[in-house]
Amino acid sequence: MKSERLRNLLFMICRYFANTQKKFMPGIKHGETAIEILGTIAEMQRRATDIRKEGKTIAFVPTMGYLHEGHLSLVKRGKEAADILVASIFVNPEQFGPDEDLSRYPRDPENDIRLAETAGVDILFMPEAPDLYPEGYETYVVQTDLPEHLCGLSRPVFFRGVMTIVAKLFNIVKPHLAIFGEKDYQQLAVIRKMTRDLNFDTEIIGGPTLRESDGLAMSSRNKYLSEDDRKSARVLYRCLSEAGRRVAEGETIAGRIIAESETAIRAEPDTEIDYIKICHPGTLNDVAVIDQPVVMALAVKVGGTRLIDNLVLFPPGTGEK
Ligand code: AMP
Repeated sequence: MKSERLRNLLFMICRYFANTQKKFMPGIKHGETAIEILGTIAEMQRRATDIRKEGKTIAFVPTMGYLHEGHLSLVKRGKEAADILVASIFVNPEQFGPDEDLSRYPRDPENDIRLAETAGVDILFMPEAPDLYPEGYETYVVQTDLPEHLCGLSRPVFFRGVMTIVAKLFNIVKPHLAIFGEKDYQQLAVIRKMTRDLNFDTEIIGGPTLRESDGLAMSSRNKYLSEDDRKSARVLYRCLSEAGRRVAEGETIAGRIIAESETAIRAEPDTEIDYIKICHPGTLNDVAVIDQPVVMALAVKVGGTRLIDNLVLFPPGTGEK
């Protein structure tokens, strides 16, 4: 809790310097029209209302910070589609279980501000937990089916937390469109469904997964990986791309591909499989015989760090690959 408070203090100091003393921020030159950093819900809502009154459109990229090229690719996509790009940084306590990595989730607000500025973010919203979840907070968004698959099974509070914060952020940022990464395939599906079911007037756009040169999906959590873990972690994308190749060449039995992936992952040091699934891209139900495009999704702990990744597999004659 103490380190949480220290971090919040650091956030506030960074915001102060970015807004009022831009000459002290690396990468932000004094006098330039720079990124606008907003910290309270009231400020953000007022700005969003004003932007809409001016007849401009808002694209929104929500993140938990520790920004990397994957996040910035979503910013780029959003900038192409709207007048004003709002990104948010908030490590949402409601989506972490009691044994998960909330307190040690990587944070670097100063570098995030610099990267966001360089990527052309117009407004960076950096709210504080007590503003979003004040004393007595008791309203949550739940969904009955999609969260009961894949990550939802080992992270029971995760999607409730994600949907709640995304719904709240939509009401605060008032975006015309919001961009989410396909890297978190199930999250994107859950948010699309929530947006439809609750009639949010926001278009949801998916952005492709950005990868390191060896195929590892970019993720803030990759920072936890030791050099050896980093080598083991390559196996995730190796399994997915091998599966993509096998299905494109006519393999139809999902169980065979899953068994081969299990063997490959177990051969790597310090790995522990959470799940490897081949499922329907819409319902996320397991698929046994692959005769349509399917999603292969996996979650593997590497040296204690839980990594996820996915790929759409296309049988011959069904589209890509
Ligand atoms: P996070 O900060 O991990 O909550 O991610 C914020 C957004 O960035 C989510 O929509 C993620 O799906 C997306 N994202 C994370 N990693 C990648 C990546 N490697 N490529 C594209 N989008 C990503």
